[in-house]
Amino acid sequence: MKPVIALVGRPNVGKSTLFNRLTRSRDALVADLPGLTRDRHYGEGRIGERPFLVIDTGGFEPVAKEGIMYEMAIQTKQAVAEADVVVFLVDGRQGLTPHDKTITDFLRKSGRQVMLVINKSEGMKYTSVTAEFYELGMGDPYVISAAHGDGVHDLVNEALDQAFASRPHEEEELENQDHGVKIALVGRPNVGKSTLINTLVGEQRVIAFDMPGTTRDSIEVPFERDGKQYTLIDTAGIRRRGKVFEAIEKFSVVKTLQSVSEANVVVLMLDAQQDISEQDAHIAGFILESGRALVVAVNKWDGLTSDQRDDVKNTMDRKLDFLGFAETRFISALKGTGIKQLMTSVDAAYKAATANLSTPRLTRALQEAIEKQEPKRKGGTRPKMRYAHQGGQNPPVIVIHGNALDGVTEPYKRYLEKHFRDTFSLIGTPLRIELRSGK
Ligand code: GDP
Ligand code: GDP
Repeated sequence: MKPVIALVGRPNVGKSTLFNRLTRSRDALVADLPGLTRDRHYGEGRIGERPFLVIDTGGFEPVAKEGIMYEMAIQTKQAVAEADVVVFLVDGRQGLTPHDKTITDFLRKSGRQVMLVINKSEGMKYTSVTAEFYELGMGDPYVISAAHGDGVHDLVNEALDQAFASRPHEEEELENQDHGVKIALVGRPNVGKSTLINTLVGEQRVIAFDMPGTTRDSIEVPFERDGKQYTLIDTAGIRRRGKVFEAIEKFSVVKTLQSVSEANVVVLMLDAQQDISEQDAHIAGFILESGRALVVAVNKWDGLTSDQRDDVKNTMDRKLDFLGFAETRFISALKGTGIKQLMTSVDAAYKAATANLSTPRLTRALQEAIEKQEPKRKGGTRPKMRYAHQGGQNPPVIVIHGNALDGVTEPYKRYLEKHFRDTFSLIGTPLRIELRSGK
Protein backbone atom coordinates (compact mmCIF):
# COMPACT_ATOMS: atom_id res chain seq x y z
CA MET A 1 0.00 0.00 0.00
CA LYS A 2 1.25 3.44 -0.86
CA PRO A 3 2.29 5.60 2.08
CA VAL A 4 -0.03 8.43 2.97
CA ILE A 5 1.16 11.93 3.76
CA ALA A 6 -1.36 14.30 5.37
CA LEU A 7 -0.84 18.05 5.10
CA VAL A 8 -2.09 19.85 8.20
CA GLY A 9 -1.94 23.50 9.18
CA ARG A 10 -4.03 26.60 9.66
CA PRO A 11 -5.51 28.33 6.61
CA ASN A 12 -3.11 30.20 4.31
CA VAL A 13 0.13 28.53 5.30
CA GLY A 14 0.47 27.03 1.82
CA LYS A 15 -1.07 23.57 2.06
CA SER A 16 -2.78 23.65 -1.28
CA THR A 17 0.29 25.16 -2.95
CA LEU A 18 2.33 22.25 -1.63
CA PHE A 19 -0.42 19.79 -2.56
CA ASN A 20 -0.46 21.07 -6.13
CA ARG A 21 3.28 20.85 -6.39
CA LEU A 22 3.28 17.25 -5.14
CA THR A 23 0.52 16.09 -7.45
CA ARG A 24 1.10 18.36 -10.41
CA SER A 25 2.26 15.75 -12.87
CA ARG A 26 -1.15 14.15 -12.58
CA ASP A 27 -3.12 17.33 -12.53
CA ALA A 28 -2.74 17.96 -16.22
CA LEU A 29 -3.96 14.49 -17.10
CA VAL A 30 -7.57 15.03 -16.19
CA ALA A 31 -9.25 17.53 -18.43
CA ASP A 32 -12.27 19.30 -17.04
CA LEU A 33 -15.02 16.92 -17.93
CA PRO A 34 -18.69 17.71 -17.55
CA GLY A 35 -20.10 16.38 -14.31
CA LEU A 36 -16.76 15.59 -12.75
CA THR A 37 -16.56 16.96 -9.24
CA ARG A 38 -12.93 17.74 -8.88
CA ASP A 39 -11.72 17.19 -5.42
CA ARG A 40 -8.39 18.80 -4.96
CA HIS A 41 -7.84 17.30 -1.56
CA TYR A 42 -6.70 13.82 -2.44
CA GLY A 43 -3.99 13.05 -4.90
CA GLU A 44 -1.19 10.77 -5.96
CA GLY A 45 2.37 11.92 -6.20
CA ARG A 46 5.71 10.42 -7.08
CA ILE A 47 9.30 11.29 -6.29
CA GLY A 48 11.59 9.29 -8.52
CA GLU A 49 10.42 5.69 -8.14
CA ARG A 50 8.50 6.35 -4.96
CA PRO A 51 4.75 6.78 -5.23
CA PHE A 52 2.65 8.12 -2.39
CA LEU A 53 -0.80 9.51 -1.62
CA VAL A 54 -1.26 12.98 -0.28
CA ILE A 55 -4.19 14.52 1.54
CA ASP A 56 -4.72 18.23 1.97
CA THR A 57 -6.78 18.42 5.12
CA GLY A 58 -8.10 21.89 4.31
CA GLY A 59 -8.46 24.64 6.87
CA PHE A 60 -8.19 23.20 10.32
CA GLU A 61 -10.05 24.67 13.28
CA PRO A 62 -9.65 22.11 16.06
CA VAL A 63 -11.72 24.07 18.56
CA ALA A 64 -14.87 24.49 16.47
CA LYS A 65 -17.93 22.87 18.04
CA GLU A 66 -20.33 22.82 15.11
CA GLY A 67 -20.85 23.81 11.50
CA ILE A 68 -18.62 23.34 8.51
CA MET A 69 -15.39 23.88 10.43
CA TYR A 70 -16.43 21.20 12.86
CA GLU A 71 -17.13 18.79 10.01
CA MET A 72 -13.75 19.60 8.53
CA ALA A 73 -12.07 19.02 11.87
CA ILE A 74 -13.62 15.55 12.01
CA GLN A 75 -12.37 14.77 8.52
CA THR A 76 -8.94 16.10 9.42
CA LYS A 77 -8.79 13.97 12.56
CA GLN A 78 -9.60 10.88 10.59
CA ALA A 79 -7.02 11.71 7.92
CA VAL A 80 -4.39 12.32 10.60
CA ALA A 81 -5.24 9.05 12.32
CA GLU A 82 -4.84 7.12 9.09
CA ALA A 83 -1.82 8.88 7.64
CA ASP A 84 1.66 7.43 7.87
CA VAL A 85 3.26 10.81 8.25
CA VAL A 86 1.80 14.21 9.06
CA VAL A 87 3.40 17.24 7.48
CA PHE A 88 2.55 20.12 9.78
CA LEU A 89 2.93 23.36 7.86
CA VAL A 90 3.54 26.75 9.46
CA ASP A 91 4.17 30.13 7.85
CA GLY A 92 7.75 31.41 8.10
CA ARG A 93 6.78 34.94 7.08
CA GLN A 94 4.01 35.34 9.58
CA GLY A 95 5.83 33.53 12.35
CA LEU A 96 4.42 31.47 15.17
CA THR A 97 0.74 31.99 16.02
CA PRO A 98 -1.46 30.71 18.89
CA HIS A 99 -3.36 28.65 16.34
CA ASP A 100 -0.15 26.78 15.50
CA LYS A 101 0.16 25.86 19.17
CA THR A 102 -3.37 24.49 19.32
CA ILE A 103 -2.68 22.33 16.31
CA THR A 104 0.58 21.17 17.87
CA ASP A 105 -1.29 19.98 20.96
CA PHE A 106 -3.77 18.10 18.86
CA LEU A 107 -1.06 16.46 16.76
CA ARG A 108 0.91 15.47 19.80
CA LYS A 109 -2.13 13.68 21.25
CA SER A 110 -2.71 11.88 17.96
CA GLY A 111 0.50 9.95 18.46
CA ARG A 112 1.32 10.19 14.75
CA GLN A 113 4.68 10.84 13.21
CA VAL A 114 4.81 14.60 12.65
CA MET A 115 7.25 16.69 10.64
CA LEU A 116 7.23 20.40 11.43
CA VAL A 117 7.69 22.27 8.17
CA ILE A 118 8.18 26.01 7.81
CA ASN A 119 6.87 27.23 4.49
CA LYS A 120 7.42 30.48 2.59
CA SER A 121 11.05 30.48 3.64
CA GLU A 122 12.55 31.31 0.27
CA GLY A 123 15.43 33.76 0.65
CA MET A 124 15.48 33.41 4.42
CA LYS A 125 18.26 32.11 6.67
CA TYR A 126 17.63 28.77 8.37
CA THR A 127 18.56 29.98 11.84
CA SER A 128 16.47 33.13 11.73
CA VAL A 129 13.35 31.56 10.24
CA THR A 130 13.38 28.53 12.54
CA ALA A 131 14.30 30.14 15.88
CA GLU A 132 10.84 30.87 17.25
CA PHE A 133 9.35 27.55 16.15
CA TYR A 134 11.52 25.52 18.52
CA GLU A 135 9.06 26.59 21.17
CA LEU A 136 6.60 24.06 19.74
CA GLY A 137 8.86 21.27 20.92
CA MET A 138 8.67 19.40 17.63
CA GLY A 139 12.40 19.18 17.07
CA ASP A 140 14.34 20.63 14.14
CA PRO A 141 11.95 22.14 11.64
CA TYR A 142 12.26 21.57 7.90
CA VAL A 143 12.23 24.69 5.81
CA ILE A 144 10.70 24.81 2.38
CA SER A 145 9.17 27.08 -0.17
CA ALA A 146 6.12 25.37 -1.60
CA ALA A 147 5.74 28.12 -4.17
CA HIS A 148 9.32 27.86 -5.45
CA GLY A 149 9.95 24.21 -4.72
CA ASP A 150 12.96 24.70 -2.43
CA GLY A 151 13.38 21.80 -0.03
CA VAL A 152 10.25 19.97 -1.18
CA HIS A 153 12.05 17.03 -2.72
CA ASP A 154 14.10 16.35 0.42
CA LEU A 155 11.06 16.79 2.60
CA VAL A 156 9.10 14.13 0.73
CA ASN A 157 12.00 11.69 0.67
CA GLU A 158 12.38 12.09 4.40
CA ALA A 159 8.63 11.65 4.92
CA LEU A 160 8.66 8.45 2.87
CA ASP A 161 11.67 7.10 4.76
CA GLN A 162 9.78 7.66 7.99
CA ALA A 163 6.64 6.06 6.60
CA PHE A 164 8.46 2.89 5.61
CA ALA A 165 10.47 2.76 8.81
CA SER A 166 7.18 2.36 10.65
CA ARG A 167 6.12 -0.66 8.59
CA PRO A 168 9.28 -2.44 7.58
CA HIS A 169 8.20 -5.71 5.96
CA GLU A 170 5.32 -4.61 3.89
CA GLU A 171 6.93 -3.73 0.60
CA GLU A 172 8.40 -7.19 0.03
CA GLU A 173 5.32 -9.08 1.13
CA LEU A 174 3.13 -7.36 -1.36
CA GLU A 175 5.49 -7.98 -4.20
CA ASN A 176 5.80 -11.68 -3.55
CA GLN A 177 2.17 -12.34 -4.23
CA ASP A 178 0.54 -13.00 -7.51
CA HIS A 179 -3.13 -13.67 -7.22
CA GLY A 180 -4.40 -12.57 -10.60
CA VAL A 181 -6.36 -9.45 -11.33
CA LYS A 182 -6.33 -7.07 -8.38
CA ILE A 183 -9.77 -5.64 -7.76
CA ALA A 184 -10.64 -2.72 -5.51
CA LEU A 185 -14.26 -2.67 -4.43
CA VAL A 186 -15.20 0.84 -3.43
CA GLY A 187 -18.38 2.60 -2.41
CA ARG A 188 -20.14 4.32 0.44
CA PRO A 189 -21.18 2.44 3.56
CA ASN A 190 -24.29 0.32 3.01
CA VAL A 191 -24.14 0.03 -0.75
CA GLY A 192 -23.61 -3.72 -0.37
CA LYS A 193 -19.87 -4.28 -0.53
CA SER A 194 -19.66 -6.95 2.14
CA THR A 195 -22.72 -8.69 0.72
CA LEU A 196 -21.00 -8.83 -2.67
CA ILE A 197 -17.77 -10.16 -1.20
CA ASN A 198 -19.69 -12.92 0.54
CA THR A 199 -21.52 -13.75 -2.67
CA LEU A 200 -18.29 -13.82 -4.66
CA VAL A 201 -16.22 -15.88 -2.30
CA GLY A 202 -18.98 -17.55 -0.31
CA GLU A 203 -18.91 -20.96 -1.90
CA GLN A 204 -15.18 -21.24 -1.91
CA ARG A 205 -12.68 -22.17 0.64
CA VAL A 206 -12.09 -18.78 2.17
CA ILE A 207 -8.41 -18.10 2.12
CA ALA A 208 -8.67 -14.54 3.28
CA PHE A 209 -5.86 -13.53 5.53
CA ASP A 210 -5.04 -10.59 7.65
CA MET A 211 -1.79 -9.11 6.51
CA PRO A 212 0.82 -9.23 9.24
CA GLY A 213 3.25 -6.40 9.83
CA THR A 214 0.94 -3.63 8.72
CA THR A 215 -0.18 -0.75 10.81
CA ARG A 216 -3.72 -1.05 9.50
CA ASP A 217 -5.80 -4.18 9.39
CA SER A 218 -5.57 -5.03 5.74
CA ILE A 219 -7.58 -7.87 4.33
CA GLU A 220 -6.84 -9.31 0.94
CA VAL A 221 -9.24 -11.86 -0.42
CA PRO A 222 -7.98 -14.09 -3.20
CA PHE A 223 -10.71 -16.02 -4.99
CA GLU A 224 -11.30 -17.99 -8.15
CA ARG A 225 -14.15 -17.84 -10.63
CA ASP A 226 -14.49 -19.77 -13.86
CA GLY A 227 -10.91 -20.89 -13.53
CA LYS A 228 -9.56 -17.36 -13.22
CA GLN A 229 -7.70 -15.83 -10.29
CA TYR A 230 -8.66 -12.57 -8.67
CA THR A 231 -7.75 -10.76 -5.49
CA LEU A 232 -10.01 -8.29 -3.78
CA ILE A 233 -7.70 -5.83 -2.14
CA ASP A 234 -8.37 -4.22 1.16
CA THR A 235 -11.94 -3.01 0.94
CA ALA A 236 -12.53 0.01 3.15
CA GLY A 237 -15.13 -0.51 5.84
CA ILE A 238 -15.14 -4.32 5.73
CA ARG A 239 -13.79 -6.81 8.22
CA ARG A 240 -13.78 -10.54 8.38
CA ARG A 241 -15.49 -12.49 11.06
CA GLY A 242 -14.82 -16.18 10.69
CA LYS A 243 -15.87 -17.07 7.18
CA VAL A 244 -18.06 -14.10 6.47
CA PHE A 245 -17.28 -10.50 5.74
CA GLU A 246 -19.19 -7.75 7.45
CA ALA A 247 -19.40 -4.01 7.24
CA ILE A 248 -18.07 -1.76 9.93
CA GLU A 249 -19.50 1.67 10.52
CA LYS A 250 -16.55 3.75 9.58
CA PHE A 251 -15.86 4.95 6.08
CA SER A 252 -12.22 5.53 5.33
CA VAL A 253 -11.25 7.80 2.49
CA VAL A 254 -7.61 6.90 2.96
CA LYS A 255 -8.23 3.19 2.62
CA THR A 256 -10.45 3.75 -0.38
CA LEU A 257 -7.74 5.76 -2.11
CA GLN A 258 -5.10 3.23 -1.24
CA SER A 259 -7.02 0.29 -2.58
CA VAL A 260 -7.85 2.19 -5.78
CA SER A 261 -4.23 3.03 -6.40
CA GLU A 262 -3.12 -0.59 -5.82
CA ALA A 263 -5.76 -2.14 -8.05
CA ASN A 264 -5.81 -3.18 -11.68
CA VAL A 265 -9.56 -2.80 -11.87
CA VAL A 266 -11.85 -0.78 -9.62
CA VAL A 267 -15.45 -1.82 -9.06
CA LEU A 268 -17.35 1.30 -8.03
CA MET A 269 -20.49 0.21 -6.26
CA LEU A 270 -23.56 2.42 -6.19
CA ASP A 271 -26.89 1.86 -4.49
CA ALA A 272 -29.79 1.91 -6.96
CA GLN A 273 -32.17 2.66 -4.11
CA GLN A 274 -30.31 5.81 -3.01
CA ASP A 275 -29.35 9.03 -4.77
CA ILE A 276 -25.87 9.37 -6.17
CA SER A 277 -24.09 11.53 -3.63
CA GLU A 278 -21.24 14.01 -3.68
CA GLN A 279 -19.14 11.35 -2.05
CA ASP A 280 -19.82 8.91 -4.90
CA ALA A 281 -18.80 11.58 -7.40
CA HIS A 282 -15.64 12.43 -5.46
CA ILE A 283 -14.59 8.81 -5.38
CA ALA A 284 -15.36 8.48 -9.08
CA GLY A 285 -13.24 11.56 -9.78
CA PHE A 286 -10.32 10.09 -7.91
CA ILE A 287 -10.64 6.78 -9.76
CA LEU A 288 -10.54 8.65 -13.03
CA GLU A 289 -7.46 10.55 -11.95
CA SER A 290 -5.72 7.39 -10.81
CA GLY A 291 -6.00 5.90 -14.28
CA ARG A 292 -7.30 2.54 -13.02
CA ALA A 293 -9.68 0.46 -15.10
CA LEU A 294 -13.25 0.72 -13.91
CA VAL A 295 -16.55 -1.13 -13.82
CA VAL A 296 -19.62 0.49 -12.27
CA ALA A 297 -21.81 -1.91 -10.30
CA VAL A 298 -25.28 -0.58 -9.55
CA ASN A 299 -26.45 -2.74 -6.69
CA LYS A 300 -29.85 -3.53 -5.15
CA TRP A 301 -31.41 -3.79 -8.59
CA ASP A 302 -33.87 -6.30 -7.16
CA GLY A 303 -37.17 -4.94 -6.01
CA LEU A 304 -37.21 -1.90 -8.32
CA THR A 305 -40.08 -1.29 -10.72
CA SER A 306 -39.19 -0.73 -14.33
CA ASP A 307 -40.01 2.98 -13.97
CA GLN A 308 -37.63 3.24 -11.07
CA ARG A 309 -34.99 1.45 -13.09
CA ASP A 310 -35.35 3.96 -15.91
CA ASP A 311 -35.01 6.79 -13.41
CA VAL A 312 -31.80 5.34 -12.02
CA LYS A 313 -30.34 4.95 -15.49
CA ASN A 314 -31.17 8.53 -16.41
CA THR A 315 -29.69 9.95 -13.24
CA MET A 316 -26.51 7.98 -13.75
CA ASP A 317 -26.12 9.18 -17.30
CA ARG A 318 -26.44 12.72 -16.11
CA LYS A 319 -24.32 12.65 -12.97
CA LEU A 320 -21.61 10.23 -13.97
CA ASP A 321 -21.32 11.22 -17.60
CA PHE A 322 -17.55 11.49 -17.28
CA LEU A 323 -17.30 7.76 -16.59
CA GLY A 324 -18.55 7.02 -20.09
CA PHE A 325 -15.57 4.77 -20.82
CA ALA A 326 -16.65 2.29 -18.15
CA GLU A 327 -19.24 -0.47 -18.42
CA THR A 328 -22.15 -0.37 -16.00
CA ARG A 329 -23.70 -3.56 -14.60
CA PHE A 330 -26.93 -3.74 -12.68
CA ILE A 331 -26.68 -6.36 -9.99
CA SER A 332 -28.14 -7.74 -6.84
CA ALA A 333 -25.38 -8.76 -4.48
CA LEU A 334 -28.03 -10.21 -2.20
CA LYS A 335 -29.77 -12.39 -4.79
CA GLY A 336 -26.61 -13.07 -6.72
CA THR A 337 -27.93 -11.76 -10.03
CA GLY A 338 -25.74 -10.00 -12.57
CA ILE A 339 -22.54 -11.22 -10.94
CA LYS A 340 -21.39 -13.21 -13.93
CA GLN A 341 -21.83 -10.17 -16.19
CA LEU A 342 -20.02 -8.03 -13.64
CA MET A 343 -17.01 -10.33 -13.72
CA THR A 344 -17.11 -10.40 -17.53
CA SER A 345 -16.78 -6.62 -17.45
CA VAL A 346 -13.93 -6.84 -14.95
CA ASP A 347 -12.10 -9.22 -17.30
CA ALA A 348 -12.74 -6.96 -20.29
CA ALA A 349 -11.55 -3.86 -18.44
CA TYR A 350 -8.39 -5.65 -17.33
CA LYS A 351 -7.74 -6.87 -20.85
CA ALA A 352 -8.15 -3.37 -22.27
CA ALA A 353 -6.01 -1.81 -19.55
CA THR A 354 -3.14 -4.21 -20.21
CA ALA A 355 -3.46 -4.52 -24.00
CA ASN A 356 -0.30 -4.55 -26.08
CA LEU A 357 -0.56 -2.02 -28.87
CA SER A 358 2.21 -2.25 -31.43
CA THR A 359 3.78 0.82 -32.99
CA PRO A 360 2.67 -0.06 -36.57
CA ARG A 361 -0.96 -0.61 -35.48
CA LEU A 362 -1.00 2.58 -33.44
CA THR A 363 0.59 4.58 -36.22
CA ARG A 364 -1.94 3.24 -38.74
CA ALA A 365 -4.79 4.17 -36.43
CA LEU A 366 -3.27 7.62 -35.98
CA GLN A 367 -3.08 8.12 -39.74
CA GLU A 368 -6.68 7.04 -40.17
CA ALA A 369 -7.74 9.55 -37.55
CA ILE A 370 -5.84 12.36 -39.28
CA GLU A 371 -7.30 11.45 -42.67
CA LYS A 372 -10.81 11.71 -41.27
CA GLN A 373 -10.15 14.98 -39.51
CA GLU A 374 -6.99 17.06 -39.54
CA PRO A 375 -5.92 19.08 -36.49
CA LYS A 376 -6.50 22.80 -36.89
CA ARG A 377 -3.71 25.22 -37.62
CA LYS A 378 -2.38 27.27 -34.79
CA GLY A 379 -0.76 30.57 -35.73
CA GLY A 380 -0.05 29.51 -39.31
CA THR A 381 1.46 26.09 -38.52
CA ARG A 382 -0.45 22.87 -38.54
CA PRO A 383 0.58 20.32 -35.91
CA LYS A 384 2.26 17.41 -37.68
CA MET A 385 1.75 14.02 -36.07
CA ARG A 386 4.07 11.37 -37.45
CA TYR A 387 3.82 8.17 -35.47
CA ALA A 388 2.56 6.72 -32.20
CA HIS A 389 3.89 4.18 -29.74
CA GLN A 390 2.68 2.72 -26.49
CA GLY A 391 4.21 4.35 -23.44
CA GLY A 392 2.56 2.36 -20.67
CA GLN A 393 -0.21 0.07 -19.47
CA ASN A 394 -2.99 0.18 -16.89
CA PRO A 395 -3.80 2.81 -18.05
CA PRO A 396 -2.64 2.53 -21.64
CA VAL A 397 -0.54 5.53 -22.59
CA ILE A 398 -0.29 6.41 -26.25
CA VAL A 399 2.64 8.65 -27.12
CA ILE A 400 2.34 10.60 -30.34
CA HIS A 401 5.48 12.00 -31.94
CA GLY A 402 5.68 14.85 -34.40
CA ASN A 403 6.22 18.58 -34.73
CA ALA A 404 4.45 21.65 -33.40
CA LEU A 405 2.24 19.43 -31.24
CA ASP A 406 1.58 22.05 -28.61
CA GLY A 407 -0.90 23.37 -31.16
CA VAL A 408 -3.10 20.27 -30.72
CA THR A 409 -6.28 21.31 -28.91
CA GLU A 410 -8.01 19.49 -26.04
CA PRO A 411 -11.06 18.64 -28.17
CA TYR A 412 -8.78 17.17 -30.83
CA LYS A 413 -6.99 15.11 -28.21
CA ARG A 414 -10.36 13.81 -27.08
CA TYR A 415 -11.20 13.00 -30.68
CA LEU A 416 -7.98 11.00 -30.99
CA GLU A 417 -8.68 9.23 -27.73
CA LYS A 418 -12.08 8.16 -28.97
CA HIS A 419 -10.62 6.98 -32.25
CA PHE A 420 -7.99 4.82 -30.51
CA ARG A 421 -10.57 3.56 -28.07
CA ASP A 422 -12.89 2.46 -30.87
CA THR A 423 -10.14 1.03 -33.05
CA PHE A 424 -8.69 -1.18 -30.31
CA SER A 425 -11.94 -1.81 -28.38
CA LEU A 426 -10.51 -0.33 -25.23
CA ILE A 427 -13.53 -0.60 -22.96
CA GLY A 428 -13.39 0.07 -19.27
CA THR A 429 -10.04 1.80 -19.03
CA PRO A 430 -9.03 5.45 -19.16
CA LEU A 431 -6.60 6.19 -21.94
CA ARG A 432 -3.84 8.75 -21.88
CA ILE A 433 -2.54 10.57 -24.90
CA GLU A 434 0.87 12.23 -24.68
CA LEU A 435 2.24 14.50 -27.35
CA ARG A 436 5.95 14.82 -27.98
CA SER A 437 7.32 17.34 -30.38
CA GLY A 438 10.59 16.52 -32.11
CA LYS A 439 12.20 19.86 -31.56
P1 GDP B 1 -3.66 26.93 2.36
O1 GDP B 1 -4.84 27.73 2.80
O2 GDP B 1 -2.86 26.45 3.52
O3 GDP B 1 -4.00 25.84 1.39
O4 GDP B 1 -2.67 27.97 1.62
P2 GDP B 1 -2.46 28.27 0.06
O5 GDP B 1 -1.69 27.18 -0.60
O6 GDP B 1 -3.76 28.65 -0.54
O7 GDP B 1 -1.48 29.53 0.13
C1 GDP B 1 -1.83 30.73 0.80
C2 GDP B 1 -1.02 31.88 0.20
O8 GDP B 1 0.37 31.68 0.47
C3 GDP B 1 -1.14 31.99 -1.30
O9 GDP B 1 -1.23 33.36 -1.63
C4 GDP B 1 0.14 31.38 -1.82
O10 GDP B 1 0.52 31.91 -3.05
C5 GDP B 1 1.12 31.76 -0.73
N1 GDP B 1 2.25 30.83 -0.66
C6 GDP B 1 2.19 29.46 -0.64
N2 GDP B 1 3.43 28.94 -0.58
C7 GDP B 1 4.29 29.98 -0.57
C8 GDP B 1 5.72 30.08 -0.52
O11 GDP B 1 6.46 29.10 -0.50
N3 GDP B 1 6.26 31.35 -0.49
C9 GDP B 1 5.47 32.45 -0.52
N4 GDP B 1 6.09 33.62 -0.49
N5 GDP B 1 4.13 32.39 -0.58
C10 GDP B 1 3.54 31.18 -0.62
P1 GDP C 1 -21.48 -2.34 2.89
O1 GDP C 1 -21.53 -1.37 4.02
O2 GDP C 1 -21.20 -1.66 1.59
O3 GDP C 1 -20.58 -3.51 3.11
O4 GDP C 1 -23.00 -2.89 2.73
P2 GDP C 1 -23.62 -4.30 3.21
O5 GDP C 1 -23.13 -5.40 2.35
O6 GDP C 1 -23.43 -4.43 4.67
O7 GDP C 1 -25.15 -4.06 2.85
C1 GDP C 1 -25.92 -3.05 3.49
C2 GDP C 1 -27.38 -3.45 3.49
O8 GDP C 1 -27.88 -3.55 2.16
C3 GDP C 1 -27.63 -4.80 4.15
O9 GDP C 1 -28.82 -4.72 4.87
C4 GDP C 1 -27.77 -5.75 2.95
O10 GDP C 1 -28.59 -6.86 3.23
C5 GDP C 1 -28.43 -4.83 1.93
N1 GDP C 1 -28.12 -5.27 0.56
C6 GDP C 1 -26.90 -5.58 0.07
N2 GDP C 1 -27.00 -5.96 -1.23
C7 GDP C 1 -28.31 -5.87 -1.55
C8 GDP C 1 -29.06 -6.15 -2.75
O11 GDP C 1 -28.53 -6.54 -3.78
N3 GDP C 1 -30.40 -5.94 -2.70
C9 GDP C 1 -31.02 -5.50 -1.58
N4 GDP C 1 -32.34 -5.32 -1.65
N5 GDP C 1 -30.36 -5.26 -0.44
C10 GDP C 1 -29.02 -5.44 -0.41
